[in-house]
Amino acid sequence: MTAAQQMPVAEVRHDWTRQQVLDLFALPFNDLLFTAQQVHRTHFDPNRVQVSTLCSIKTGACPEDCAYCPQSARYDTGLEREQLMKVEKVVEEARAAKASGATRFCMGAAWRSPKKKDMPYVTRMVREVKALGLETCMTLGMLKGDQAKELAEAGLDYYNHNLDTSPEYYGEIITTRTYQDRLETLDQVRAAGMKVCAGGIVGLGEGEKDRAGLLMQLANLPEHPESVPINMLVKVAGTPLEDEKDLDPFEFIRCIAVARIMMPKSHVRLSAGREAMSDEMQSLAFLAGANSIFYGEKLLTTGNPEANEDMQLFARLGIKPEEYQQYADEAEVEAELSARISEQESDPFFYDAAK
Ligand code: SF4
Repeated sequence: MTAAQQMPVAEVRHDWTRQQVLDLFALPFNDLLFTAQQVHRTHFDPNRVQVSTLCSIKTGACPEDCAYCPQSARYDTGLEREQLMKVEKVVEEARAAKASGATRFCMGAAWRSPKKKDMPYVTRMVREVKALGLETCMTLGMLKGDQAKELAEAGLDYYNHNLDTSPEYYGEIITTRTYQDRLETLDQVRAAGMKVCAGGIVGLGEGEKDRAGLLMQLANLPEHPESVPINMLVKVAGTPLEDEKDLDPFEFIRCIAVARIMMPKSHVRLSAGREAMSDEMQSLAFLAGANSIFYGEKLLTTGNPEANEDMQLFARLGIKPEEYQQYADEAEVEAELSARISEQESDPFFYDAAK
């Protein structure tokens, strides 16, 4: 038995070493998926997937140079730049997202960081979207402490800020902001009391040690991000990564499984790049522990599988969208989960990984 096979699973840890993470990546595929599924079943209903909708509230003309991004002003990708969307229009989109089953509405702006003049608009968006009974998430670039506080006071539930890749590979992808800048924004989000959504992108030309390094950074944060998007590079013509080599799809699934094992209580999100994935690959990702998706026709500026195709896939797999519940405390979450697990115990395929 390898060291990784002997490793206790489903434990929330913040002291992962690179070797331990590489040992997980090196497990035989079936052992890795089985371990990830065990961890997943200890903390989640395996047949529920959280559904978010993403809305680009300000598209294009971003001053940053992220090598994968069609929204950077430095690359000619033919993307039309847009002004900040009107609050009424955002609320209309949020209403439509709710009607099609989303429980969380994520609003993204292509900024280095929000300007003072933008804050009254974005905080109004948060208040009005929240009033519809949706969870709110924003991604607006780097935040200072007072901006994070203002968003939290408006009721923002989640703030998304990805680490993108390992600290070692980061300089190949972005030069206009540092890894430390990103970590500081995550600190500000936590200090303001919001939940963190942070993950990265694979298929950027990085190696397995970089995928391990990214997951190690995320899992060794003082608190695990509640939401961990794992994106597959979408190669957009005009960006420096347009001709990047395809990543072996099994490497992507391995990355999901390792994220699930290292961050057992986080929602691991199957994010950008899902459009290019077959139904079989998406179902393998769910088996590996992904339990959140973006739903809708557009994922910021790249395509996303048609919303109804997602629902058809859910129906074929017996997956149900996770409901949005506002729990008073963690005890209620545990109680709800126990209730769901006991409902499933009569199911012939039920396997209690906690026993
Ligand atoms: S990823 Fe974000 S920060 Fe980077 S270029 Fe795109 S919009 Fe700008």
